[in-house]
Amino acid sequence: DSQSKYSDELNQNLSACKNEFLTLFGKNRPELISVCAPGRVNLIGEHVDYNDGFVLPMAIPLYTVIVGAEHPFDDNNNKNTLCRVRSLEASLGDKNYIEFDLNDLHKRDKSQNWTNYIIGVVANFEGTVEPFDAVIKSNVPLGSGLSSSAALEVAMYTFLENLTKQFSSKENKALRCQKAEHAYASVPCGIMDQFISSMGKENNALLIDCRSYESKLFPLNDPDISVLVINSNVNHQLEGSEYSSRRKQCEDVSRVIGKRSLRDVTMQDLENNKDRIDQESFRRAKHAITEIDRTIEASKALYANDIITFGKLMNQSHDSLRDDFNVSCAELDSLVEIARYSGGVLGSRMTGGGFGGCTVTLVKTSHVNEVIENVKKHYKGVASFYVCKPCEGAHRIQ
Ligand code: ADP
Ligand code: MG
Repeated sequence: DSQSKYSDELNQNLSACKNEFLTLFGKNRPELISVCAPGRVNLIGEHVDYNDGFVLPMAIPLYTVIVGAEHPFDDNNNKNTLCRVRSLEASLGDKNYIEFDLNDLHKRDKSQNWTNYIIGVVANFEGTVEPFDAVIKSNVPLGSGLSSSAALEVAMYTFLENLTKQFSSKENKALRCQKAEHAYASVPCGIMDQFISSMGKENNALLIDCRSYESKLFPLNDPDISVLVINSNVNHQLEGSEYSSRRKQCEDVSRVIGKRSLRDVTMQDLENNKDRIDQESFRRAKHAITEIDRTIEASKALYANDIITFGKLMNQSHDSLRDDFNVSCAELDSLVEIARYSGGVLGSRMTGGGFGGCTVTLVKTSHVNEVIENVKKHYKGVASFYVCKPCEGAHRIQ
């Protein structure tokens, strides 16, 4: 089944890293350290992290693996301060090997963009880093909204923890990885991706309060219900600019109403201030305010094992993202429609920032294949499918 397929892939990636490490960095090395960190899917709570809202992601069994060891002494038996890191992601072309000095952790230019995630984490590590060599491989698709970036950062951080035997709390680890992404990759991301990659628990979704950073596990382990992630395999590259304009509209509305963020604004407040807000911003705020409520309701439904209600909230979330927040696209809408017209589907929505990437569908396990077949038949592009159980966050493998 799909879960054993994922553990096979994890093992294959682990072997690939080890082989590459031995080929590239030699055999006479101290103990190899192997770690992994998962990607994630957000079940509900979209575009609300920057409004101080709630999100409800789960870690998925796609992992970024890192295998490495301390950098060896040089020919004069001196320890230098160099680190070498190789990524086996083919799409990165020949720029997938870097060398950097621990005394010079500067941000790299665009052509070496991926290395900034690594150097950023090293620079933000809560402790003293020893020089190291490492090899990375991942089956989290890059740039598809399943958070390969956080998986990479959190895996790197976890590797450094095990290398240096200096361990941070899972929350601090996530916060430092987020900081790395802000400062080195110049992505103003929220806290969700790093939190769930660091704190994910098998058979549980994680409700995260993006204001207080408090988080709470909610069981999602009914074998009759499956989470199906479908990658549209399109990316309309609008996310950056559209993201900042949505963010600004939300902030403007809360300012007009005199509240700190949309977390503190009710639909009644919004209605009362209708005359002072343009129609588009009104719809943006309406999405955020109702989505925050839906996310809380969804966590309550999970707690009560009321999967029907959960599915309905997912559907409402998509409709709101499509009609009011306008961050969906034809491909995502099509995947959602196809899923909703299939048997056994409780709810389906786009997930992630939008304009491409993935959808997430809650479906009776008995109907997973039916949905997949329908998408293969009716979706105009080529989709990829991931049947996911909530899995464990970052950890050492060996
Ligand atoms: P997402 O996090 O949704 O996958 P992002 O745009 O946030 O998309 O992050 C993708 C970027 O992260 C890639 O373009 C690459 O720079 C970097 N990245 C992620 N995983 C790896 C990896 N295994 N090796 C090298 N770079 C990676
Ligand atoms: Mg990312």
